[in-house]
Amino acid sequence: MPNLTRRTLLAGSAVAAAAPLTAAVGAAPPAGKETPGIYRYRIGAFELTALYDGIWYRPITDKFIRNAPFADVESALADAFMPTDKLATPFTTLIVNTGRRLVLIDTGTGGQIAPSAGVLRANLVAAGIDPKAIDLIVISHFHPDHINGIKDKDNDLVFPNAEIMVSAAEWMFWMDDANLNAAPADLKLTFRNQRRVFTDIAKHVARFEPGAEVAPGIVTVPAPGHTPGHTVFAIHSGDQSLMVLGDTAQHPAVFARHPDWQAAFDIDGDAAVATRKKLFDRAAADRMLVTGYHFPFPACGHLVKTATGYEHVPVEWQPNL
Ligand SMILES: [Zn+2]
Repeated sequence: MPNLTRRTLLAGSAVAAAAPLTAAVGAAPPAGKETPGIYRYRIGAFELTALYDGIWYRPITDKFIRNAPFADVESALADAFMPTDKLATPFTTLIVNTGRRLVLIDTGTGGQIAPSAGVLRANLVAAGIDPKAIDLIVISHFHPDHINGIKDKDNDLVFPNAEIMVSAAEWMFWMDDANLNAAPADLKLTFRNQRRVFTDIAKHVARFEPGAEVAPGIVTVPAPGHTPGHTVFAIHSGDQSLMVLGDTAQHPAVFARHPDWQAAFDIDGDAAVATRKKLFDRAAADRMLVTGYHFPFPACGHLVKTATGYEHVPVEWQPNL
């Protein structure tokens, strides 16, 4: 292989520029905006649409991981080419068309978390999906980045015809005023946000128990730790399946590679780690396709067990369904 230096690369491009294959037509104006974030795939007879809602660079401090030195956390972030003072937190929601129901799993930030997130609705339009056509919303847990998309900033329902289903354990924990009163100040904001989203629609919100089939082919699997009622969804159609991991792990470059790390936002760190390892071991052993809400878009791929943790292997983009 020739020695590629900046000089030889530049020399090469100079040659290419000097001998164009066709006559030059002039510069194209830059588009100046991103393309829609939509990725479609199939699980058996089900058609799935991953819709990007954007990304939040969440500021972090040495309190971010409870059980690792911050220098190790900074190294992990640097190894993944990420900023070391922020956690890259992308958001990807999933729509499952079972043929009978159009199911939205988690609802994005509703444009209420960071200016760099909130493009879900634009991506819905680009994907040709009318919000009125969504007939079921299922929620993995009650953190704002998963429930805020239920309503817009004016408190109107974004998906007016959708039945909403949530974990009974999640509802019981967060909607309990004694838990709100006992919570530290920053967590109280989370409790208050849940009341903003759910209180006036409470009678329309159905609650599922662990193991419930929320729609044919979509089964809930309890995954406590991140929050008490945190739930993942196993989707089966034909001989194919997908595990929708929610926040079992946030960015895989951090939490798949370091599955023992307990983040400050995990309500029960020990349980979060145990749940993560159990589900990741199963997904790796069964070579199961998985998607994670905070995995890089399109957020689906496989998990490989390594000597120290897991590695996420993203799917290849398929131009045909
Ligand atoms: Zn989340």
